[in-house]
Amino acid sequence: MRRLIVGNWKMNGTSSDLDEIRAIAASAQQYPSVDSAVCLPATLIDRSTRAVDAFPIGGQDCHMQNSGAHTGCVSADMLLDAGATLTIVGHSERRAAQHETDEDIRAKATAAHAAGLKVIVCVGETLDEREAGSALDVVLGQLGRSLPDGAAGIWLSVAYEPVWAIGTGRVAETADVAEMHEAIRTALVNRFGEDGRVIRILYGGSMNGDNAAQLLAVENVDGGLIGGASLTAAKFEPILAAAEATSE
Ligand code: PEP
Repeated sequence: MRRLIVGNWKMNGTSSDLDEIRAIAASAQQYPSVDSAVCLPATLIDRSTRAVDAFPIGGQDCHMQNSGAHTGCVSADMLLDAGATLTIVGHSERRAAQHETDEDIRAKATAAHAAGLKVIVCVGETLDEREAGSALDVVLGQLGRSLPDGAAGIWLSVAYEPVWAIGTGRVAETADVAEMHEAIRTALVNRFGEDGRVIRILYGGSMNGDNAAQLLAVENVDGGLIGGASLTAAKFEPILAAAEATSE
């Protein structure tokens, strides 16, 4: 399975960052065994896809409807029209701040796939949930409700992102990552059969150039979703290098 390394710029970036996006795209070309992409603010997608050559640019969310009275929202068709080839849905920051439910995320994933986008569905437990011993139950519950029926194949990835590890510098223990990714793989295979084996499972949460090799060496960690360390080519490239080095 090819590794997938995806940057999530969150609410960062303006046209003054186009050179940085070009630099990220250029460094990605040095790692041909790795699939990579950067998910940008919707306002930057069109200009970025024109600025780079054959480097995938994604959105960070989409609405479940194609069009209509949804002020401020962006549909999957609009992302595609702007040049995006993928989108994240269900990031924990949206689950928390925009009160998105698993059912919303499932509808968004369905809409994004129907539009022709690749989709990364995020799941992850809070610190309270981990400390209460319910991390597996929480994540597998989110997974079951957030993935559309018939979801299978290379167009879909799952990102396991423990909420307490996002943007905190605190990385999940290798053993906990291994346990969670194995549980997610088992759930995918139980639900989708052999097709569940080709769904890439990404780890997200303070991944950087120093810890990427260790995380990517864990069984069933097929790539990474990276926030802070994706904002510059200098920080992103070591992660791509680690992914290339651990590619099968
Ligand atoms: C994220 O936003 O998905 C993320 C993993 O952020 P960070 O790498 O900064 O923890």
